[in-house]
Amino acid sequence: MSINLSTESKFKEGLAFAQQMDLEDPLARFRSYFHIPTDEDGNEFVYLCGNSLGLQPKSTKNYLEQELKDWGNLGVEGHFHAKNPWMPYHEFLTQAMADVVGAKPNEVVIMNTLSVNLHLMMVSFYRPTSTRNKIMIEYDAFPSDRYAVESQIRFHGFDPKDCLVELKAREGEVTLRDEDILATIDDHGESLALVMLGNTNYYTGQFFNMKSITTKGHSLGAVVGFDCAHGAGNAPLELHDSGADFAVWCTYKYINSGPGSLGGCFVHERHASDPNLPRFTGWWGHNKETRFGMRDPFDPIQGAEGWQLSNPPILSMAAIKASLDIFAEAGMKNLRSKAIKLTAYMEFLIHQLGNEMIAIITPAEPERRGSQLSIQVKNADQLLFDKITKAGVIADWREPDVIRVSAVPLYNSFSDVYRFVEILKEQLS
Ligand SMILES: *Cc1c(COP(=O)(O)O)cnc(C)c1O
Repeated sequence: MSINLSTESKFKEGLAFAQQMDLEDPLARFRSYFHIPTDEDGNEFVYLCGNSLGLQPKSTKNYLEQELKDWGNLGVEGHFHAKNPWMPYHEFLTQAMADVVGAKPNEVVIMNTLSVNLHLMMVSFYRPTSTRNKIMIEYDAFPSDRYAVESQIRFHGFDPKDCLVELKAREGEVTLRDEDILATIDDHGESLALVMLGNTNYYTGQFFNMKSITTKGHSLGAVVGFDCAHGAGNAPLELHDSGADFAVWCTYKYINSGPGSLGGCFVHERHASDPNLPRFTGWWGHNKETRFGMRDPFDPIQGAEGWQLSNPPILSMAAIKASLDIFAEAGMKNLRSKAIKLTAYMEFLIHQLGNEMIAIITPAEPERRGSQLSIQVKNADQLLFDKITKAGVIADWREPDVIRVSAVPLYNSFSDVYRFVEILKEQLS
C-alpha cells in the first residue's frame, strides 16, 4: 500500500487501514519512548494535546537523575566535574535545538521562558521613534504576546491605541491571506517598527510564510520577529533562511520538555556582535573566559548566548536534553513527513463524516499548517468537547467555539487518529 500524500484519496476508511499505516510507519517505535497517559483502568487516552503540553519521554527521568546524583556527590564541583558539566550545560543543547528550528548554532540559545525572552528581544529590537513606532501582531494573537507587546509600547511612552496594528481575517474568513499580511505591512510602511507574529497561529493552526513576511517587513525598514511557540518542533521553521531578526519559543509544547520548562531564543547572526543593539544584560551573557573576573566591563558573547542573563536551571535543561536527543534520533525531516500524513489522514476522516456541525478552520495546504487542526463547532457547543473528553480523548477547547487537536508524529499513531474520529462520530450522532 503506497502512501502518497498529495492525494487524499489514497487514504481509506476503516481501522485496518490505520493499522496498516502504523505498520509501515518508520517512526512507529518512537511512541514507546513516551509515557502515554491512561485512565484509572489503564486504558490509554488518545492524546492529541501535544500543542499544549508534550508527553514525557521515558528517558527524562534518567537525565534528571544523573544531575541529581552529580549534585549529591559533587556539590558545587558539579559545575566542572559532573558527567555533563553544568557550567557549559546549555551548549549541549545548542546543535540539536538549532537543527529543530533551522538555525546556525550561534543563533540559538535555551534560556528563561517564552514571555521573558519576548521582552528581552523587544528590548533589543523594538526601538520606536516619533515617526516609526508601530508593532504589528495578529488580531487573535496569544494573550501573553499581546500583553507583552502592549506593555513595551507603553514602556516607550506610546499608546497601544496608536501603535498596535492588528491583522484581522477578512469578513467571513477565519485565517489570514498571505497577500493581506503583506499589504497591511505596506499600508503602514515607514511607521512600522516591528512585525511580531506567531509563526503558527495558536488558535487556527495557520502557519505563516516567514520568509515573505520578513522580506516585506525589511524592505520597509521594519524589524521582524516571530513567536514560534506552536512551530518549534512541529513544522520546519528555517529561521536562519527566513532572515527574521529574532524568534522565541517554548519547549514544553512540541518539544516535550515538561511543564514550564525553559524557552528558546533565536537572534539572526547578522546581529551577533552589533554593539549598537541595546540589551538587558547579566553575567551569563558575558565572555566565558572572564565571566568570573567579576569586575570586567560587560563583554558579550557573540551570538544569541550573549543575551543570557542567569545561570540556568540544570534540571529543566536536562529534561530538554532528553527530548532533543530524541529529536536528533528521529530527524525533523522524517517527523515532518509523518506529520503531514497524520494530519491529512485526520482531515480525510473528518471530511468523511460529512457532518455540518463541525468545520476545520485550519488551512488545507500542508505548507500552511503544522500538526494542529482546529475544529470549529457550530453554535459553540462545548458539550461536544466534554463528551469526547469523557470518551477518552485529550484535546483542548478554545473559546469561543474551537476544539484543537494535534497528532504529533513522535508519539501519535494513525490508530490514534482513527480512534479520535470514531469517538467524534459517535458523539456527534
Ligand atoms: C504557549 C504560548 C505562550 C506561553 O508563554 P510562556 O511564557 O511560556 O508562559 C506564549 N505565546 C504563545 C504564542 C504561546 O503559544
